[in-house]
Amino acid sequence: MEDQINLLIIYTGGTIGMIKDTKTGSLRPFNFEGIYEQIPELKRFHYHLEFHCFDPLIDSSEMNPARWVELAEIIGKNYEAFDGFVVLHGSDTMAYTASALSFMLENLNKPVIFTGSQLPLGVLRTDGRENFITAIELAAATEDNTPLIPEVCIYFENSLTRANRTIKYNAENFNAFVSPNYPVLADVGVYIKYNKHHILKPNFKKLKVHKNMDNRVTILKLFPGISKEVVEATLGISGLRAVILETFGSGNALTEEWFLNLLEKAIGNGIHIINISQCAAGAVEQGKYDTSLRLKKMGIISGGDMTTEAALTKTMYLLGENLSSGKFRVIMNLPLRGEISVL
Ligand code: ASP
Repeated sequence: MEDQINLLIIYTGGTIGMIKDTKTGSLRPFNFEGIYEQIPELKRFHYHLEFHCFDPLIDSSEMNPARWVELAEIIGKNYEAFDGFVVLHGSDTMAYTASALSFMLENLNKPVIFTGSQLPLGVLRTDGRENFITAIELAAATEDNTPLIPEVCIYFENSLTRANRTIKYNAENFNAFVSPNYPVLADVGVYIKYNKHHILKPNFKKLKVHKNMDNRVTILKLFPGISKEVVEATLGISGLRAVILETFGSGNALTEEWFLNLLEKAIGNGIHIINISQCAAGAVEQGKYDTSLRLKKMGIISGGDMTTEAALTKTMYLLGENLSSGKFRVIMNLPLRGEISVL
């Protein structure tokens, strides 16, 4: 007889479990104890499901590194007892949390599938029921007694994507997420088609949970007309250790002296600057144009084709590891969890 599959469902909050407040008319999280009434189909699974609810339940706009640590700890503590994990999370910051978890869970050999919905479970036309049921299927999938998806992923509508390659791009469509720079890991329709050669391979090493996420980092998005005061104030933030610089196209920026001098000064002060494109698809190529050559020469780190979410959370993770400046630069360009393409 086959061993029973044990899955832990971690409910953090978000639209999927929301109800309308009768007084204000706005959405707020509901108690998950009523889940079997909302989705009676859950009883039909042959898997053993256990639930863990965040207290308090939150809209994902309230997510922060302390709550990422809470989530990583729950997975760490239950890692041996369960075959896979489904995380129900608001879609707004799901790409950040899921990316962060991908770095915090080193040597992950089991599935951690994030999902949520655009419409609450209590609504007739909800996308939450299908998302939740399929996420359970995906978390339980095995081949030769080994989990098929030993990585942190996001499942929404009909695609399973790598967490740290995914962005939320639509606030209304059921298809809310895309993975612009990496193929989907599974297409879900009548059949679930796994793109196995794109899925990370298990390394069978012991899970290591990293909990030091250093948030002394900021995102500076360039725009035509950005003023010296804005750049100076941002780079001058006391204690700042890293900046994700959101540049134009393939990593280009203005070439005015005041701007380049401020960046150079920040690097001289030990601040890491990581160049990430404002474009959702494609990669930063410093030196391709004149407008990025100086950035490269002064030591700005190319973020390649990483998403802003992956670059930000990878930076928090690497800062927390207290690496030397040289090591930080090297590792930023290496795929730790499949988050960046090696050109
Ligand atoms: N505001 C909600 C959240 O992110 C939206 C959603 O769940 O999709 O928690």
